[in-house]
Parts: sequence; structure tokens; C-alpha cells
Amino acid sequence: MSQSRDRTPAPLAARALSPRTLTAQALGRIAEPYRDLVPPLHPSTTFERAGDGSYPGGRLYSRDFSPAYDQAEELLTTLEGGHQSLLFASGMAAATAVLQALEPGQRIVACRSMYWALRNWLVAFAQQWKLDLAFYDNADLDGMVALLREAPTTLLWLETPANPTWEVIDIAAAVGAARAGGTTVLVDSTVATPVFSQPLKLGADIVMHSATKYLNGHSDVIAGALVCREDGPLWQRIRRNRNLGGAVLGPFEAWLLLRGMRTLQLRVQQSAANALAIAQALDGHPGLVEVLYPGLPGHPQHAIAARQMQGGFGGMLSIRTTGGEARSREVTARLQIFKRATSLGSVESLAEHRASVEGPGSPCPPDLIRLSVGIEAVDDLIDDLKEALAD
Ligand SMILES: *Cc1c(COP(=O)(O)O)cnc(C)c1O
Repeated sequence: MSQSRDRTPAPLAARALSPRTLTAQALGRIAEPYRDLVPPLHPSTTFERAGDGSYPGGRLYSRDFSPAYDQAEELLTTLEGGHQSLLFASGMAAATAVLQALEPGQRIVACRSMYWALRNWLVAFAQQWKLDLAFYDNADLDGMVALLREAPTTLLWLETPANPTWEVIDIAAAVGAARAGGTTVLVDSTVATPVFSQPLKLGADIVMHSATKYLNGHSDVIAGALVCREDGPLWQRIRRNRNLGGAVLGPFEAWLLLRGMRTLQLRVQQSAANALAIAQALDGHPGLVEVLYPGLPGHPQHAIAARQMQGGFGGMLSIRTTGGEARSREVTARLQIFKRATSLGSVESLAEHRASVEGPGSPCPPDLIRLSVGIEAVDDLIDDLKEALAD
């Protein structure tokens, strides 16, 4: 018995396996005592304490560190090449845990173009928490550097590719600029996913995901995640904010998230291949002023994207029609295969007239249609778009 135990192979994550293998097998974990390939659900909120006061199971109360999170967090940490991950009840809860780890008076420098709800929350939170918030243009690295030099900055916020116009920020260059001032660099990598870019390996400090999107991938879980490159006082405050702030994910959602993540590689590679084919098919279409996709050679940051994103440019693109807002709304209404819905990163393709979702004050061009490309047969998707754009 002890001999066979000695020969137990090292866990998959400890070996140099492809992320694709690690993801498909959810790190190759086998659960005791039944040797389950699929992890059991852990709904218990509380764990037995021994007579001597210790916790032999290593857990106390599941608001702190639920065993339901372990495998999904470890898989994400491995894919991002980080030190540790934390799951949250939503992407917004993950972002909030970071913001609440800052002290009043501290400075955030953030990209102007980003997920709209998060940008609005950043502005409102900064006002209430008395943070000094400055925005840089996503395409203007010099402008970002100037803001970092202007005053000591605690946090530099990047979203790349950025909603809904898909500008790409050079993460390594941003890290280089932030290092000098000791600024923490956070990258919202929801759209890139760890399949196409690993910001921590480029020196970023924290990666954020709306796990609602590609990580889960099936439009049936709201979840968020943070991954850190190394431990430190800021990360400890973030951990405290989750455990005591209490924006924790339910165990069933965590279980579904891990199930979704097993097909992450296949899903995002197919979405990205479809998105590229659609962008190429629509580029130069007489009914469009612009196709916004980092994978097109004409995209202003295509060279950065080609260097920074490995194996694909993601599954998100936007198109702008020649007929302005009314025409874009009409084209969106004509789509049959693309579903008219917000959100992104799922197996089914979605389209939305973005400015009307973002609401008043949105910088989104009123003629912009945002497309989240799924894994359907690409010819069906191209035909759907071409028919909607016809005459
Ligand atoms: C959806 C999204 C968020 C917010 O995440 P939720 O899970 O909806 O709270 C943040 N950033 C990006 C880029 C997103 O797409």
C-alpha cells in the first residue's frame, strides 16, 4: 500500500504539460475517496473542529476559503502563470475588492476606453472614496506615461483589447513605465483570456477576469476572478475584502465554472478563428465605415497585438455602418443567427447596438454594433451579417 503511494505520480500541474492538457483535465485532479474525475460539489458552509480546537480539514467557514473554489482557482493560476487566484461573485465584485484595497487620496490611472459599467463604477467609487482618478487614451502610451509622472500613482488600470472598440495596450511597455514609480499594474484580461495573453508573464501585478465571459463560456454563471503575480500587502487587503466584504461565489457556480473552463482552449480558439474570418469577410464592405478587430493588419495596434497575443486575436469585434445609428439599429434587428443580447464570450454569437446599452454619456460611436463571436459554423455567421447588411 505504502509502496504504491510512493509511486503516485506528481500532480499534472507540477509537470511541463501544455495548458491545453491541464485545462481539459482540470489539472488532472482525482478526488478521494471515490477517485472522481469530476470534483464533488462542496456546499458545506462550515467544517468540523477537533476537540483540541484545531481544524483537521484545514477549513473553518466557507466565506473565507471554500473548497468549492480550489480547483478552478488553481487552474486559473496555472494558466496565467501567477501566484494565486481568488474567485468572486462577479467581475464587478473582483474589481471592487481591488478598489476597496486602496486608501483615500491614492491615485489611479485608467484607460478611457473600457467596459462601460466598470468605468462608471470607477468614477463613482473614486469620488466617494476620494481617490484621484485620471484617464489616458488607450492608444496613447506617451499620454499614459505623462500621467504616471505627473503624480505618484498607486494603481495603473489596463483593459486590452478594450470594450467596445478593441484598442490594444502594450502591457510590457506599460509595466516598464509603471515600475519606476512602484505603481501596481492591473490588466482586465477578460477579452484576451489566458489562452491568448498572459499579462503576469509580461510583468503585470494583477489580472482581472469577468469569469462570466470566456472562462465560463456558456452564459449561465456570473463570476469574477483576480490572479496575482506575487503576494504582498495589496493582495492581502484584496483577500480580506473578499473574505470579509463577502462578495463570494456560490459553490454550484464555482463547480459550473470549472466545467466550463475545461473547454476554454477549444472555445476561444474557435471563436477567434471565426472572428478573424468575419472581420476579413466584412473588411471593405460598402455598407460599413469600419471593421474594428485587432487581427486585421489595418488595426492601429495590430503590430502590438501580434506580438502580445499568441495564437489569436480574440472573439470580439465591432462594425460601424455607413448609415449611422438608425441603420446600425436596423442591421442589428435583421440578424437571425446572432442573438441580440448583451454580454460576451459564450459559445453562441451575440450582437448589440452598444451605445443604447451603455446609455447617456457613453463615448461609444452611435453607429457601432458589437459582435461576440461564438463557435458556430462561420459561414452561417458571415451569411447572417451579409444578409443583414444587404441593400
Ligand atoms: C463583463 C465585464 C466586466 C464585468 O464583469 P461581470 O461578471 O459582469 O460583473 C468587466 N470587464 C469586462 C471586460 C467585461 O466584459
